[in-house]
Amino acid sequence: MKKIRQPIIAVLGHVDHGKTTLLDRIRRTNVAGKEAGGITQHIGATEVPIETVKQLAGPLIKLWKGEIKLPGLLFIDTPGHEAFTSLRARGGSLADLAVLIVDVNEGFQPQTIESIEILRKNRTPFIVAANKIDRIKGWKVEEDEPFLVNIKKQDQRAQQELETKLWELIGKFYEMGFNANRFDRVQDFTRELAIIPISAKYGIGVPELLVLIAGLSQKYLEEKLKIEVEGPARGTILEVREELGLGTTIDVIIYDGTLRKDDTIVVGGKDKAIVTKIRALLKPKPLDEIRDPRFRFDQVDEVAAAAGIKIAAPGLEEALAGSPVIAARSEEEVERAKAEILGQIQSVVISTGKVGVIVKADTLGSLEALSKELQEKSIPIRKADVGNISKTDVMEALSVKDEEPKYGVVLGFNVKVNEDAAEVAKAKGVPIFTGNIIYKLIEDYEAWVKAEEE
Ligand code: GDP
Ligand code: MG
Repeated sequence: MKKIRQPIIAVLGHVDHGKTTLLDRIRRTNVAGKEAGGITQHIGATEVPIETVKQLAGPLIKLWKGEIKLPGLLFIDTPGHEAFTSLRARGGSLADLAVLIVDVNEGFQPQTIESIEILRKNRTPFIVAANKIDRIKGWKVEEDEPFLVNIKKQDQRAQQELETKLWELIGKFYEMGFNANRFDRVQDFTRELAIIPISAKYGIGVPELLVLIAGLSQKYLEEKLKIEVEGPARGTILEVREELGLGTTIDVIIYDGTLRKDDTIVVGGKDKAIVTKIRALLKPKPLDEIRDPRFRFDQVDEVAAAAGIKIAAPGLEEALAGSPVIAARSEEEVERAKAEILGQIQSVVISTGKVGVIVKADTLGSLEALSKELQEKSIPIRKADVGNISKTDVMEALSVKDEEPKYGVVLGFNVKVNEDAAEVAKAKGVPIFTGNIIYKLIEDYEAWVKAEEE
């Protein structure tokens, strides 16, 4: 049976531009709108039922034409790392649609640009939230008000200042090849990027944001969102996590099919595909029901896409963040899933033995993105792997350093440097470059190479 699932939405943008605040606000908005069904908290995600969107929309409903058949919206929560922009699903992006958040007072910043590049590369449709409009001098705040109502209450000067700031943004987007416009002035959403002025802190403009996400998803993504709901599940690992009393678990966003508690799953591991039986499917308990932190989860029998779920199963210690999860209900399906996952890992996690740099990243997707950039710049790679920078990585870089000093380095994206690794690196003079912006990481490395050559 086919059904239309919730679109998976990612919120991204430069640090401190308001991702977390926006997601928190969306959660609270829903608590306020209790009679409309309210929110469902998933693992790693937040679901806004379509009834809530409709209720918030009110007269804004005329912003879209036609019926909304989506069951709701599934927002991926910003995890500790910010690299989930490059989380993949079946060769595309895990996010069906993205919200790019830009502090309207600060404008474009490095991670804004990087986010746009990743969205462009993955062909992920997105809309823009121009955040923190309440900071504009003299702005009159009315919590949770639609922007189009709120703007009418502002004096001439504040309106003009917002207009100026929006034009600056529009200019920046134009430089990057996008025609952007304030959402209510957009003629054709397939050609123009919609900018919604918001205050994540006070909820201003959030109604329009939700309405637009729902309307655009319905209009342009319906085919993509139609899934065979009874089919075996497919998902992507957000995080691999140790849980008290549960061992190593994986937090997964399911984007296709149904996952059942007696399913066998195949997931990507360091250098193999891990085949394992599910021990438990876990979802978060409502906050007010948690009395003992050891029992933060409820078990469920099955979960249908789209959803965020924690999976407890044996043998997940080596699972890779960002790797696919495929459920299999027969030997044949297990074999097919193994081949597919191995193929994906082997194209990204590599050990060439060549003279080249050591690359580490937090997820399979970000490792792939960083490796591609390096390849485009003809920087050879000796080893590319997921995980923190270890002593072994430094030792391997050291062996390269003897042959070609400029490649005897470790590049880490969104990863930590283990203590012993840092010590050895310092003692032996192996440079380690880390950061959370791919192009800046490469720039730092290139600047160092240049300085060394002089
Ligand atoms: P993130 O790094 O993108 O997740 O940004 P946060 O959501 O953590 O926000 C960074 C800071 O900006 C926090 O101190 C927020 O309270 C503040 N902030 C976020 N949105 C708004 C807004 O709409 N208005 C104002 N005045 N402050 C905001
Ligand atoms: Mg945050």
